[in-house]
Amino acid sequence: MYINGTWLTAQNKFTVTNPATSEVIGEAENGDRADAKAAIDAANNAFISWKKTTAYERSAILERAYSLMIDRREVLAELMTKEQGKPFKAAFNEVGYAADFFKWFAEEAKRNYGEIIPSARSDQRFLVRHEPVGVVAAITPWNYPISMITRKVAPALAAGCTVVLKPAEATPLCARAVFEILDDAGCPDGVVNMVTSLKPAPIGEEFCVNPLVKKLTFTGSTQVGKQLATLAASSMKRVSLELGGHAPFIVFDDADASHAAKGASLVKFLNAGQACISPNRIFVQRSIHDEFVGTLTKRIAKLRVGSGMNLKNNIGPLVNERAIKKVQNQVDDAINKGADLILGGQTMTNGDLKQGHFYAPTLLNNISTDMLIYTEETFGPVAAVIPFDEEDQVIDMANDTRYGLAAYVYTRDISRAMKIYEALNFGIIGVNDINPTSAAAPFGGMNQSGLGREGAREGMREYQETKLGGFSL
Ligand code: NAD
Repeated sequence: MYINGTWLTAQNKFTVTNPATSEVIGEAENGDRADAKAAIDAANNAFISWKKTTAYERSAILERAYSLMIDRREVLAELMTKEQGKPFKAAFNEVGYAADFFKWFAEEAKRNYGEIIPSARSDQRFLVRHEPVGVVAAITPWNYPISMITRKVAPALAAGCTVVLKPAEATPLCARAVFEILDDAGCPDGVVNMVTSLKPAPIGEEFCVNPLVKKLTFTGSTQVGKQLATLAASSMKRVSLELGGHAPFIVFDDADASHAAKGASLVKFLNAGQACISPNRIFVQRSIHDEFVGTLTKRIAKLRVGSGMNLKNNIGPLVNERAIKKVQNQVDDAINKGADLILGGQTMTNGDLKQGHFYAPTLLNNISTDMLIYTEETFGPVAAVIPFDEEDQVIDMANDTRYGLAAYVYTRDISRAMKIYEALNFGIIGVNDINPTSAAAPFGGMNQSGLGREGAREGMREYQETKLGGFSL
């Protein structure tokens, strides 16, 4: 644990295992509620001086954190592959994406402009400035174990807030590596604090009810996000939530079917499907359906499953056995209700794979609305195809979800692209684009996919209060 600028041990530790091999790769401190409270106290004390630093001082620390993360990119990527499972190349890319948040918010810190607003009264002046909210409590998931931390910490520090963070229990070593960088970059004592733990609930509760915490930012499941938001409401804390998704991937008949299938296979199987922006329902217009499914089948058949440390592998393990069971349950349900299984559909246990949590890249066709996979997030390597006929029909089906994070559309018709972009109730729309994310672009969902945005100018505003001054002359 890292509290008030010091690395601390807890009374107990927990082991961290490699999901590809089940080998123990390290241990982490099993912090408790008292540790969370100590971390909040440290962050609160540090806020008094940190909020008075200039944007240029905070920017310099974030720039150093960026350089250190880039210098350590390979080591961090290897650690991530061993702890979380994604292939080394994908982990390397994630570290780059994570570092971008330090860089972008180092720059944005200096552009924290206010406003002067004209008044209807000649003797009145309105002035607006953006001030840090105070202590920020952050909870992050395991699937993107480094970038989900920097996406919260970088804007919070840029805004002038101090932070206490609890990373996911599956990936505390990646979190520790990020905090080593923040320490080496020169963050003053107490400005960033981290408590690792095997028992998240008491720490989450302390984050939500402690009056010194002014803002809660959470990335994870919709279920836990709702619980935390409910708790945080008692003290009216500011809340940002990045939750689950159920992305539609829509392919119209004027699209290049092969190009769209290539895009679908790349984005669907990223991180073995364990991404909140992973396409969960692939809608394909009937006249190009066969060509699309043919190309998708060939591409999926070529995917190699195994340890991410073998550079030939494109698909790593799922996080644990619970995840495997959830995926299998959705696949079995779909097959029982009439879906066609084209590829995969089972766990992989041949050879070394039996040591890890591997699931075969799966393609299901003719998904119908009564199947679990039509309504539930999968978080696994299953591509589910649904043929459709009409544009209006697919808009209704795509929007037929309680989620609203990412959506993808393939069409070469500019008018249709604009119409669909406007009609979809999702926070992020990729139009012929499978990677609509960047530190510079607002990331977040509508409906039950969350509240608020991360990255971009919006991402810094999440950690600020807007203060109006009305001056009578
Ligand atoms: P999860 O909600 O179980 O865990 C996320 C984090 O919350 C972890 O740090 C965990 O320790 C903590 N947590 C769990 N229960 C808690 C409690 N009672 N109190 C306080 N903290 C608690 O989810 P997960 O299984 O780690 O992640 C998968 C989910 O996260 C998926 O649904 C996915 O869509 C979502 N996710 C969303 C985004 C996004 O940006 N929108 C990004 C990544 C993951």
